[in-house]
Amino acid sequence: MTKPKNVQVALTFDYDAMSVWIGGLGPNSPCAMSRGEFGPQGVRRILALLKEHEIRATFFVPGHTALAFPKTVEDIAAAGHEIGHHGWVHENPAALTADQERHVLEKGFEALEKVVGIRPRGYRSPGWENSVNTIPLLVEYGFNYESSLMGSEYSPYWCRIGDEWSPTEPWKWGKPVDLVELPVSWMLDDFLYFEYVPLPNGYLPGGHSPRAVLQTWIDEFDYLYEKVGEGIFIPTMHPQVTGRGARMFMLEGLIRHIAGKPGVTFTTCNDYVDQWRIGKTPSLPVDAAPAE
Ligand SMILES: [Zn+2]
Repeated sequence: MTKPKNVQVALTFDYDAMSVWIGGLGPNSPCAMSRGEFGPQGVRRILALLKEHEIRATFFVPGHTALAFPKTVEDIAAAGHEIGHHGWVHENPAALTADQERHVLEKGFEALEKVVGIRPRGYRSPGWENSVNTIPLLVEYGFNYESSLMGSEYSPYWCRIGDEWSPTEPWKWGKPVDLVELPVSWMLDDFLYFEYVPLPNGYLPGGHSPRAVLQTWIDEFDYLYEKVGEGIFIPTMHPQVTGRGARMFMLEGLIRHIAGKPGVTFTTCNDYVDQWRIGKTPSLPVDAAPAE
């Protein structure tokens, strides 16, 4: 007899709006801002689809977005979805000093507190670019989890402080800390597939077919479901990307493919982490060399 499946799905939406363009991705122009301005329209479509399927999801919201579009952020919270921290204005933490990173973390908290009265338990770094100061700060501020790293695919793991690396010395494992990593993947991020972005040294082409990307995501889910059998599936979408036109068919198709399979449930990131933590304490990955 085969083991029953135990797969959970956390749909995540990074509500970047204008902040992703102000914070340094691509051009800083009125046209770029207008791409972010579409965000609330995408949010409304996504909220309606989630309601139709009775799914609770997780929205990572920069403080800047909460102040620009408070009504939609209130709507997200009122519908029972989780709201996570996603920086102040989508600044790259790896380009900040520790003091600057603390400052933008607090500005993000203040904006979400002001708009929806929520203090997030989860964090996702803008652009998935943690600095060496990010994990210590998140631990200090009492976060439950963060979702920006890629050291695993379907299994959460404990974050670490103090990993050391250099071209000449052996890798040194840091200390596992009381912060859970919910791993992400560029393969499961809508932005790279769809968005044309001029960059200083080239461009992101975007323009993929939503049907082709849907098939890629279904294949990724099926590998987890059929071959691994347990874990969490975490696609990352953006209202200004997936919320536009035919791309919504992709999200709907993904939900239809996943929903109703035996042993599969939708969850929020924070609910999943609370459940995963039971009976566990911070530890190194199983493959890590033992401490000397
Ligand atoms: Zn983002």
